[in-house]
Amino acid sequence: MKFLVFGSLNIDHVYRLKQLVREGETVEASSHEALAGGKGLNQAVALSRAGQRVCFAGALGPDGDFLKRQLEEAGIDTKHLITVSDPTGHAVIQVDDAGRNSIIVFGGANHAVTPAMIEKTLSDFDPGDWLLMQNEISEGCTLLESAAKKGMRVAFNPSPDPAGARAWPLERAELLIFNELEGEELSGESEPEKMLDRLLDRCPKSRLVLTLGEKGSVFADASRRLYQSAFPVRAVDTTAAGDTFTGFLLAALAKGESAAKALRTASAAAALAVSRPGATPSIPTADETEAFLKQSEQSGQ
Ligand code: ADP
Repeated sequence: MKFLVFGSLNIDHVYRLKQLVREGETVEASSHEALAGGKGLNQAVALSRAGQRVCFAGALGPDGDFLKRQLEEAGIDTKHLITVSDPTGHAVIQVDDAGRNSIIVFGGANHAVTPAMIEKTLSDFDPGDWLLMQNEISEGCTLLESAAKKGMRVAFNPSPDPAGARAWPLERAELLIFNELEGEELSGESEPEKMLDRLLDRCPKSRLVLTLGEKGSVFADASRRLYQSAFPVRAVDTTAAGDTFTGFLLAALAKGESAAKALRTASAAAALAVSRPGATPSIPTADETEAFLKQSEQSGQ
């Protein structure tokens, strides 16, 4: 069984400022960092650190070489990562002294994904292989439909544009992972249980996982619901919490672990990510997650 993550890569330009820039203002930043980001890249790294062999597909520009290196350093196969003439997708992130942020995202090369590229990439995969996808590249609906038609198992996280995926054939995804805001966009319901009811009406054969930040997560399928609380940690930086959760959840379910165990492992990995700064650097390994789980069990959590 192979894993394909087909998704976005971004260069996150992080600028630290005393105060977020206001209309008409020019402000000198006290620091600048260019970091690897994008939902696809983060989730691929999480799935790989969770112990699965991952192939990544996506598009970057001539300025995106370091993102490719980061994926390769994480042990990910980049055979289906193409370079196009558009600039690499990027985010301009202002962070003020109080930790507030304001973000501009530019899709760039992430929007250069075409049906032909999807077809070529999928031809390398077989029925039963997993596709993990988000909604941060062009042709997402084509990707979901083509992979499902081929008999691939699809895990779909509609972030960061759930509204854009509302009309997609979501029932073709075997696993749907979403947070509260995304669930509301997809279902039209704001109350978690009703959200899950509506989405199960629409996708009766799918497994749904709703994440609720520090309130934990819920697994739901046609026959049951399971609830997992978040592990208590001192939150330093919640960036990539959801991406870490998604990667570890899929890795565990694909290994045949029970839904309850998969939720617990994913929550532990996400808690570790939350307790550390940064996006990809904060994603733990499978061993770190195991050790954290053992420690939590010993302390009775
Ligand atoms: P997203 O980042 O996609 O919005 P959430 O905020 O729901 O996703 O977080 C995903 C998962 O990460 C949660 O279900 C929980 O297990 C874990 N998590 C998030 N925030 C915290 C926190 N403050 N403390 C511990 N775990 C957290």
